[in-house]
Amino acid sequence: MTADAVVLDGVSRTYPGGVTALREVSLQIRHGELLAIVGPSGSGKSTMLHLIGTLDRPSAGRVRIDGYDVAALPDRQLAALRARRIGFVFQQFHLAAGTPVLDNVADGLLYAGVPRSERRRRAEVALDRVGLGHRLAHRPHQLSGGERQRVAVARAVVGEPAVLLADEPTGNLDSVAGAGVLALLRDLHAAGTTVVVITHDREIADGLPRQVRMRDGQVVADSAAPLPEGVR
Ligand code: ADP
Repeated sequence: MTADAVVLDGVSRTYPGGVTALREVSLQIRHGELLAIVGPSGSGKSTMLHLIGTLDRPSAGRVRIDGYDVAALPDRQLAALRARRIGFVFQQFHLAAGTPVLDNVADGLLYAGVPRSERRRRAEVALDRVGLGHRLAHRPHQLSGGERQRVAVARAVVGEPAVLLADEPTGNLDSVAGAGVLALLRDLHAAGTTVVVITHDREIADGLPRQVRMRDGQVVADSAAPLPEGVR
């Protein structure tokens, strides 16, 4: 594990119609980091999420995930890279309605070539990890918002991805449930998972070890950036 988890090198993204949502962004995320990408609406956070998540390709510059150059991979291999190395958590949970929690999480391994019984075994371990080992047969509608997001986190980490991308993970939760989900992300980080939280909420960002601040498609501050020459 020598490569960084994520490297963006001079990355730009211009959408058809001419909006440049990211402008020559460079960013390095090491394995095991916990950081926030924070900025106001329209600053380019979602675009960044799509690029780091390999859901989109840059117009210019280079994206590397766990050492793999995204531009060099054909679509099928890119999908495999995404399935195996990236876990997603969204504001809206995106769980399969009517499907038991255990299967929701086990399905996180569908594309990893793991047999069904092993998928379910690993899902149970992941659910235990997020404190829901006693809710395996529940359906999402039988859970609170905070519990649903825990299921989504379990699904995202069940395949032990190189990067967990959490997009406004507390956006739909009350403050107590939100704090619980953030505590869970910290626990995962403490256990070695690389966690990237995308948020517009400065308070959430300021509670994490590193903040990458976005504005108008650029990184305007990075608390982990090396100090300029001569500054102590
Ligand atoms: P954020 O997530 O911080 O709100 P976005 O990455 O969604 O920011 O958007 C950055 C800029 O790019 C905005 O000006 C937005 O309107 C524009 N944009 C985002 N997605 C598209 C798209 N698919 N087509 C055209 N413009 C887009």
